Amino acid sequence: MKKYKTFQLLSKYTYGPVESRRYGKSLGVNVLPPSVKVCSFNCPYCQLGWTYKKDIKEVKYPDSSEILKELEQRLTSEPQIDSITFSGNGEPTMHPDFLRIVRKTIELRNRYKPAAITTVLTDGVHIESEGILEALELIDNPMVKLDAGTEKMFKVVNIPMVEITLRTVVDNILKLKKRKIQTMFVKGRIDNTVDEEVNAWLELLKEIQPQEVHIYSIDRYPADTRLEVVSREVLDKIASKVKFIGIRVDAY
Ligand code: SF4
Repeated sequence: MKKYKTFQLLSKYTYGPVESRRYGKSLGVNVLPPSVKVCSFNCPYCQLGWTYKKDIKEVKYPDSSEILKELEQRLTSEPQIDSITFSGNGEPTMHPDFLRIVRKTIELRNRYKPAAITTVLTDGVHIESEGILEALELIDNPMVKLDAGTEKMFKVVNIPMVEITLRTVVDNILKLKKRKIQTMFVKGRIDNTVDEEVNAWLELLKEIQPQEVHIYSIDRYPADTRLEVVSREVLDKIASKVKFIGIRVDAY
């Protein structure tokens, strides 16, 4: 089995900056409780381990002022930051104050690191919730997850923890003006690289017309270790199909 890098649940509101393959020097922002995973998905490839219903039920979201205080301190002390990236211990848009956090983050970015972009990695489930569409429109780089082309694959590759279909996620993405997609490809117990899946996913991309698509495979210990990394060759082949339909794509 490939030797994966490890990643643990975060015990703070900020982390890094890490050298990101996609975003350069990326200062991570975790708006979720320290050391608990809170997400609307339970992707078997997740580097944070499994999502537990109990943790979601009992979650107490951190005070947005505490998060912003720590972020301000990091922005003033770090010499270089290319991206302020909302990711962390699960799905950032689940924080009830997410819009306020984004607005204030942009103010802090403009004051201390005006060259940095803002990025959110999101599962796209909560775009309909109050303030989330507005927050994502303020973000330079809203990257929405789209790992499946069919409802059947969506259920196994993302295991939604809430009642939602792939169709609704796509409809949510269509509400965004800036549409950027990120897709994890996996093999082994689950395989979303098979022709039928890739073709259905390409059809969704044609409908969404994203400005860019990032595709990649497992890099860190997945929750389900029966999953396997997709080779560079296969990723490049999928990327060429995306290019063929006229959509910008990068394989990582
Ligand atoms: S959406 Fe992200 S954080 Fe949530 S389970 Fe999937 S990979 Fe993990």
